[in-house]
Amino acid sequence: MKFGGTSIGDESAITRTCQHIAAEEGPKLVVVSAMGGVTDLLLSASFSAVNRRDYVTTLNRVEARHRAVYEAFSISAVEILELEEELAEMLQGIAMLRELSDRVKDRLLSMGERISARLVAGALTARGHPAQAIDAWDLGLFTDEHYGHAEPLASVDQSIGAAAAALPEDIIPVVTGFLGRTLAGSITTLGRGGSDFSAALFGAALGVEEIQIWTDVPGFLDADPSIVPLARLIPTLHFDEAVELAYFGAKVLHPRTIEPARKAGIPVRILGSFDLEPGSGKGGPGRGTLINDSAAEATIRALALRRNVHTLHVHSSRMLDRLLGIFARHNLSVDVVATSEVSVSMTFDCSSSMLEKAVAETSLFARVEVSPNRSIICIVGEGLRTDPSLLARIFATCAANHVPVHVISQGASRLNLTMVTDAVAAEVAMAALHKDLLPGR
Ligand code: ASP
Ligand code: MG
Repeated sequence: MKFGGTSIGDESAITRTCQHIAAEEGPKLVVVSAMGGVTDLLLSASFSAVNRRDYVTTLNRVEARHRAVYEAFSISAVEILELEEELAEMLQGIAMLRELSDRVKDRLLSMGERISARLVAGALTARGHPAQAIDAWDLGLFTDEHYGHAEPLASVDQSIGAAAAALPEDIIPVVTGFLGRTLAGSITTLGRGGSDFSAALFGAALGVEEIQIWTDVPGFLDADPSIVPLARLIPTLHFDEAVELAYFGAKVLHPRTIEPARKAGIPVRILGSFDLEPGSGKGGPGRGTLINDSAAEATIRALALRRNVHTLHVHSSRMLDRLLGIFARHNLSVDVVATSEVSVSMTFDCSSSMLEKAVAETSLFARVEVSPNRSIICIVGEGLRTDPSLLARIFATCAANHVPVHVISQGASRLNLTMVTDAVAAEVAMAALHKDLLPGR
């Protein structure tokens, strides 16, 4: 059972989370993120410190968030205060040396999860459910040395299994998400949002019945409800479909969560920790979104929209590798690509300031057109792979609603279709496509 930052964001969220944990029968392992917002605060404190600006105010905010919880549940704060003291010392050191290495940054960020695990274990114990905080490495999660985006070692299944054998029975383990350690003993992080991935690694190694990701939405929705008010919960998804949706930016799930789960053949379930009745309807298919490898239906499952992208049309022959080289050098990640022998179209986030430089460099050997204010519509579903009439319907709906389609691309999995259109038209298209492709169940 993995609980994200908002699910343990304050006293009432933690209380609800404790209820969900207590309601789950049988052996369980809990994985937690830092309290919501804490990782960002720690990052910002570290940047302030290295630039010799005030970091103490931010540090105080972090400490106040933690204090509110240990006071509310009357948890002994000894260990937490020790960790906070180490945190303060690290920031002092960073300010003094004016140096912040990736290794030190990971160690500093680890404090968010190390403290939240102690808070949640303390709250559970205080409510009559004996629990114990465990740092990820004490449960065998070892990684390589890529600080900031460390890769678990190939042997984690064995090291986690061996460490888990020593866990005391009848005590709920509350493990830090997001973190690992190198064999040489340095703390690492798995990349932002990585606690979901941690949960899947532990679940897969232990052969659990189900990997549960508890979050602030009730599951995957078939569209963003702020764009399509009629958006509905998707009860089941295939692993492939979930990966596409996760990568496209439905922030519900870290995309890498699926890898270990699928390899071990373990279903992943997304659940809302703010749902009214904790633990109600246990295990039933009507609970959240269940992701597994049972045959997907030949339909469309979900739509997603990404706003604020630039499209680049580059006219020159045979130069895809050269272009990709330029963009990689400027740290730009390409979202959608469509290519022919003589031209390439691709999309980028508007926020990237490196884009101008990359365009200037490309203009030296090719004709480049930049179109701002575009949006990407992504359509996901097994049906795209198997039912050609769905493509016809998608384009008919676009035509009927005067939605210009500038770029089209279908990923290698063939179960997603990506279209680039104008910002305003995209909003119209989302509503029309949802109505046509995802009629009420
Ligand atoms: N606390 C980490 C983050 O904010 C990891 C996570 O939330 O999954 O990125
Ligand atoms: Mg998350």
